[in-house]
Amino acid sequence: MEFAFSDDQQMLRRTVREFAENEIGPKVMNYDETQEFPWDIVRKAAELGFFGVIFPESYGGAGLGYVEYVTVVEELSRVDGSVGISVAAHNSLCTNHIYECGSEEQRRRYLPRLTGGTWIGAWSLTEPTAGSDAGGTRTTARRDGDGFILNGSKTFTTHGTVGDVAVVFAVTDSDKGKHGISAFIVEKGTPGFRPGKKENKLGLRASDTSEVIMEDCRVGDAQMLGERGHGFVDAMKILDGGRISIAALALGMARGAYDAALKYAQERAQFGRAISEFQAIQFMLADMATRIDAASLLVYRAAWMKDRGMKVTKESSMAKLYASEVGVWAAERALQIFGGYGYVKDFPAEKYYRDVKLCTIGEGTSEIQRMVIAREIL
Ligand SMILES: Cc1cc2nc3c(=O)[nH]c(=O)nc-3n(C[C@H](O)[C@H](O)[C@H](O)COP(=O)(O)OP(=O)(O)OC[C@H]3O[C@@H](n4cnc5c(N)ncnc54)[C@H](O)[C@@H]3O)c2cc1C
Repeated sequence: MEFAFSDDQQMLRRTVREFAENEIGPKVMNYDETQEFPWDIVRKAAELGFFGVIFPESYGGAGLGYVEYVTVVEELSRVDGSVGISVAAHNSLCTNHIYECGSEEQRRRYLPRLTGGTWIGAWSLTEPTAGSDAGGTRTTARRDGDGFILNGSKTFTTHGTVGDVAVVFAVTDSDKGKHGISAFIVEKGTPGFRPGKKENKLGLRASDTSEVIMEDCRVGDAQMLGERGHGFVDAMKILDGGRISIAALALGMARGAYDAALKYAQERAQFGRAISEFQAIQFMLADMATRIDAASLLVYRAAWMKDRGMKVTKESSMAKLYASEVGVWAAERALQIFGGYGYVKDFPAEKYYRDVKLCTIGEGTSEIQRMVIAREIL
């Protein structure tokens, strides 16, 4: 077994950390308050290759693996989960779906723009009445000559408003249940395709989350992604990889909260000594450090397996389940260590507490992860 990161991986971590602390850190609260999409940060992150981490250089990507990808998402999220989720959703969902399931023509058309971050990608699976039960998709794709007419609405799409292209799921064959769902690539500007309401969220507020509406939106056959009727099965495959990045998102925020609490505990004095000298605080920090390390091992194991082409359905769900629950728990402990200052926006604890909760929900709730894990082990 080898638990050490290579020199290149350590250098990558330092580069991302520096970028996150210097470029994102000072702007975090402003973007959180205004809920604006952080275009300036996204553009700079794209220049560093963060929007195409896991894709071959021949498609404009950075040509790195999942271990590096997890490193990038973790380090960005340690400073700001909103930027972390942007990178995660863009890489793992939209771009990876086109890379894994697209025709060569589709790869050539979309990947260089996406991997370079010139275009921002969205992936619209969830609907108002089809969340955990994505097989209950209602959006329809009706055959029309050499194309399809899409009708329906998606909810909670990351990059639903700012995205240049979206992968959307619709029912092509209503008599075939989940095997009647197909995926389509829809470009911004396609008539009948538009963002709906932008959500006003508890956390990850600089991340763009919105409805996506399709009203008699016509797409040609060339826009079908993967085989007809394979959309749902392909989506589950894409989520196996995606969940590793949500786990990394949670891990990064857990680390951010922990680092902030560790520092604060050594600076804040009460009863004539630093609060870090109280055993109660020490035990909180010890438990946080231990659980975060355990989460990290699960996350990097899943990434390592993915890099070796191994099946990761169970391991990515375990990593996502554990890291997200540790993230929520660690953020709450951090807030407690900050005391009253944890409750106000001048200090970082409250934002981690709000932001990290998404990780137990997005790309399958904790309950759904447990169902996936149980299915795999039984
Ligand atoms: C900020 C944000 C970003 C998102 N980004 C995207 C995106 O880019 N693309 C996309 O397609 N979706 C996205 N989502 C949607 C997300 O994946 C869904 O919210 C999630 O899958 C849960 O679906 P739901 O919200 O409809 O909850 P429901 O499915 O209605 O679940 C409600 C509760 O019931 C539980 N539950 C449901 N079924 C079962 C069961 N069988 N057994 C036990 N418990 C169950 C759930 O665990 C949960 O606690 C995003 C969501 C958010 C909040």
